[in-house]
Amino acid sequence: MVIDFHTHVFPDKIASKTVDALANSASVKPYSDGTLSGLLKNMEDSGVNISVTLPVLTKPTQFESVFNFASEVLSNFKNGDTRILPFCGIHPDIEDLEGAFIKIKKAGFKGIKIHPEYQQTFIDDPKNVKILSLAKKHGLITVTHAGVDNAYTGEVRCTPKRVLNALDKLGGYDKLVLAHFGGNELFDEVYNHLSGLNLYFDTAFMLKNIDKAMFIKILNKHGEDKILFATDSPWSYALSDINIIKSFCLPVDVENKILYKNAVKLLDL
Ligand SMILES: [Zn+2]
Repeated sequence: MVIDFHTHVFPDKIASKTVDALANSASVKPYSDGTLSGLLKNMEDSGVNISVTLPVLTKPTQFESVFNFASEVLSNFKNGDTRILPFCGIHPDIEDLEGAFIKIKKAGFKGIKIHPEYQQTFIDDPKNVKILSLAKKHGLITVTHAGVDNAYTGEVRCTPKRVLNALDKLGGYDKLVLAHFGGNELFDEVYNHLSGLNLYFDTAFMLKNIDKAMFIKILNKHGEDKILFATDSPWSYALSDINIIKSFCLPVDVENKILYKNAVKLLDL
């Protein structure tokens, strides 16, 4: 079994336009058309059983439409009609954050996604700390983009040190997932400051860029129970990423924890 903890989809009407624009700004190649059916096709071809989708709100006004699109997919997941499990998006500038969280919790979402770069808010900014504390209060998982985003040229807004600062303000939070192995392209800092803490790292996008020795070094210090297989589809292809994990020749139980068992536990499936 394989669970992909980090993918992106868009409503059919805007998928091709959105994927084209994102592909151009980051100079990356998309591996699907960004639709639900495109993701399902990749999952089938790659042997992925469940994919978690992570919507990114670039403006607070997108909450309603993202919530509605994701809610519909979530109902289909609950009915057994799809293998795509959506999280909801949230934005630090939403006026009634508490109301939004109540809505998210009521609809049955298991988690939310934030992206400090596209939301112009550092991870340890009071607004993001409020989001994390509300997620903690409601027992929700938070996935945040972490480290360098190749489509964004400004200052990195979720660095390992800022994560430590945010956790300090929160008094801990055991359902925080840092995308891109704790911090894309910041793996020395991830190793030094975050590895071994009560945090999850996903493997989205970075598998083709990290060398095996660094992956193993972080894995050994961080522990095999807090790493989640993820692709960042459409920006990576699941079958290639699964093969990279397999090429590390990890013990079977460790490989299975990364590929799905840790996700089953965290998602309470
Ligand atoms: Zn992503």
